[in-house]
Amino acid sequence: MDAATITSWMREIDVAVRAERDHLVQLDAAIGDGDHGTNMVRGFEAVVQALGADDGSPPGKLLVLAGRTLVSTVGGASGPLWGSALRSGGRVLGEQMTFEGNQLVEVLSAALASVKDLGTAAVGDKTMVDALEPAVDTLRSRLHDGVALDQALDAAAAAAEAGMRSTVPLQARKGRASYLGERSVGHQDPGATSTALILRALQKAATKGA
Ligand code: ADP
Ligand code: MG
Repeated sequence: MDAATITSWMREIDVAVRAERDHLVQLDAAIGDGDHGTNMVRGFEAVVQALGADDGSPPGKLLVLAGRTLVSTVGGASGPLWGSALRSGGRVLGEQMTFEGNQLVEVLSAALASVKDLGTAAVGDKTMVDALEPAVDTLRSRLHDGVALDQALDAAAAAAEAGMRSTVPLQARKGRASYLGERSVGHQDPGATSTALILRALQKAATKGA
């Protein structure tokens, strides 16, 4: 994988959040303030634009640029959270021009650690961590077992989707939805939903280059 993989990943996210914008808005309207779909679309539209203007940076630098762009364009919680995630992930790759699956695990681990540091959420708090953590764990264990990268990424995306669905019966303990207390139960978390889209986009982008 290389810089083109990152650009392709960000384009796939842009396409996915556009297609799911209204759904993300509805989910956030139920337990938040209804801006998650527009936040994600605005953010990743700006990311695609920023990456399109870049001239030959290595993949890590592109991730850092993407993260910076999200922080500066998205006002909601998801902007700084995904922004710091992509910046931390990008730093793992430094200046190298290509990377393998095991380093992708390190990138995603750093992204997860950054989200958990900043947002202090754990699995079960009904946030994006419920989708991201099982995805990272699944990717790591599948690659460790010798599964091919595209299949491991497919399993990771499926784990994120399962994590997303697991948020429905939970009561939110972090973010805006936590203000609702028990009334947050019975709704799927918007951030976990967009995180599942982001992991599915990664699988598509990485498979394309294979
Ligand atoms: P805001 O809540 O500021 O309107 P968004 O609507 O864009 O921001 O994003 C909401 C999502 O952000 C939630 O569904 C949740 O997944 C995620 N989120 C909120 N707070 C946290 C946190 N402390 N840690 C992890 N994720 C969080
Ligand atoms: Mg919101």
